[in-house]
Amino acid sequence: MNSSMTFHRPVSTGKVYKSTGSWYVVKTTEGETWNARLKGLFKLDGITSTNPLAVGDDVDLEAENEGEKTATITAIHDRRNYINRQSPSHRMQHHIVAANIDQSLLVVTLKEPRTSQGFIDRWLVTCEAYHVPAVLLFNKCDLYRKKEEERFAAWQKMYGDVGYRLIRMSIKTGEGLDEVKELLQDRISLLSGHSGVGKSSFLNALFPSMSLKTQEVSGWSGKGIHTTTFAEMFDLPPSPPAASLPLPESSTLATTTIPTLPDHSAAASDIGRSLERPLPSGRVIDTPGMREFGLVDISRPELSGYFPEMRALAGQCQFNNCLHLEEPGCVVKAAVQEGSISPDRYISYCAILGSIEENNY
Ligand code: GDP
Repeated sequence: MNSSMTFHRPVSTGKVYKSTGSWYVVKTTEGETWNARLKGLFKLDGITSTNPLAVGDDVDLEAENEGEKTATITAIHDRRNYINRQSPSHRMQHHIVAANIDQSLLVVTLKEPRTSQGFIDRWLVTCEAYHVPAVLLFNKCDLYRKKEEERFAAWQKMYGDVGYRLIRMSIKTGEGLDEVKELLQDRISLLSGHSGVGKSSFLNALFPSMSLKTQEVSGWSGKGIHTTTFAEMFDLPPSPPAASLPLPESSTLATTTIPTLPDHSAAASDIGRSLERPLPSGRVIDTPGMREFGLVDISRPELSGYFPEMRALAGQCQFNNCLHLEEPGCVVKAAVQEGSISPDRYISYCAILGSIEENNY
């Protein structure tokens, strides 16, 4: 990306809120929403990326048609950071999921369904690799019984010792939601989680007006809204309280886009009503259909650098190319043996290392 490639005087700068392949929904700093497209030249840029522009990118716009609010993207600003995933169709190609994000939130559950530690650790590694702070949201804590309480306490210690923040929450009862809302304030947050963890319920709770609009538009377009895999960014409604926000007309992207929030079951909408306190400002990027981020950019020697507890010991092993497996004089293995590094995290490390090896990266 070359920020100096400005061909015309831009009408404005804005942020990409949604990409549908050839069109981008861009919201300008003045708060206007435009449908914009890239000139061909930029498309040559992303040789290893399937998409030259991602949600969260900052761009310059030049109007094509003022009345229809269509525009051309004339410049792409440098990215502060971005998150990739492996292209589903080409193993060696990247797909940029989102750019310029402040934090990455992973919704996980210990029950119905249970999120595996391997899944969490891969996610954390990816966040570390892209220098994006990661927070784990443990949803459905209302379902916790003794076994889940013990598991949560163990993971709280394990991840907390490494420096990660865990928030225990329930969309159903409202527990932990104040803390989450605080976390979202004035930040751009990428939201992920595998199917069934309550991501849609979470979005419904945060965007009560959007969810009604979504159902409407979904019926009109006749398309299943789960079919999309495109990320989309949403503005959190400002105060007053979510429950008293105006209905669809005020929806941020209502005029020019087809909202793609996931389908909303009656149960999920009911759950959303539990969140009735004032909401702070902030933006959330939803990544529908995303199960896991690939580790395409990570080589075997780099991997331990993305486990903070191992990174802290960097350079202390006997061999400087130590992969912390069977090498003599390995301080990481010694730390695992004496308990200052969690054996479960070390097992994840070995599993991810193995998967990188199998893929010949
Ligand atoms: P998604 O696949 O991640 O979008 O998950 P959904 O939002 O569709 O939620 C999956 C199921 O979990 C639905 O039946 C929700 O009603 C339920 N659910 C969501 N959050 C909670 C929660 O905090 N507690 C309980 N008990 N159920 C929840």
